[in-house]
Amino acid sequence: MNSIILLSLKEQLLKASKDIELSGHCRHKTGNLSVINRKEQYIIITPSGISKAKLVLADLVVCDFEGNILDNPNNNKPSSELPMHIACYKNRADVHSVVHTHSTYATAFAVKGLEIPPVVTESVFYKDKTTVIGYGKPGSRELAEKVTAGISEDTDVLILEKHGVIIMGEAIAETVLKAKYVEEVAKVALLSSMLNENNL
Ligand SMILES: [Zn+2]
Repeated sequence: MNSIILLSLKEQLLKASKDIELSGHCRHKTGNLSVINRKEQYIIITPSGISKAKLVLADLVVCDFEGNILDNPNNNKPSSELPMHIACYKNRADVHSVVHTHSTYATAFAVKGLEIPPVVTESVFYKDKTTVIGYGKPGSRELAEKVTAGISEDTDVLILEKHGVIIMGEAIAETVLKAKYVEEVAKVALLSSMLNENNL
C-alpha cells in the first residue's frame, strides 16, 4: 500500500464523514461512507457504532474487495453495511466512493418503496433518476445481492426499501454533495405534494 495515497484517501473520507453528520444527513450514528483504491485493491469504510463527527483517522477500517480487514489501527468493527458498498464497487467500475444515509426525506420515500421524482433542477446532479431496491435486511448478503441485481449506469441513487438511500460517485466530497441534493429534492417533492389550491 502506498502510504501517502492511503493517508490522503483517509483524510478525504474523514472530512466527508464529519461534513455529512454535521449537516444532519447521518444523525445518531446512522449511515456509512467508503472510498476505493482500485489500483491497490482496497476499500476504506467508516466503522460502526461511532459518531461520524467524532471519528479520527485511526478509526477508519481498510478492507479488501471480499471484506477481509487489511488495516484497522483502533480495532473497530467495519460498518455492517460493507457488503452493500462492495456490491456497488463491483458492479460500477466508474464509482470511487459510496455514501449511505438514512436521511429523513429520502427515507420517507424508501419506506413507501417509491422513487424520488425529479421535481427541481438539483436532480441533474444524479441523472434525474433513482432506482428502488426491494427490501433486504440491513447488512445482509441478501441486500447486497439485491443491490447487485438493481444497480445500473442509469442512476447514481438507489432507494433501499424501508431502509434508506445509497449515493455513488467519484470523489467522496462530490458524492456527499450529491447526497445532500437527493435529500433536498426528496424534501421539496414531499412538501409540494402536500399543497393544493384549496389550502393555499
Ligand atoms: Zn442503513
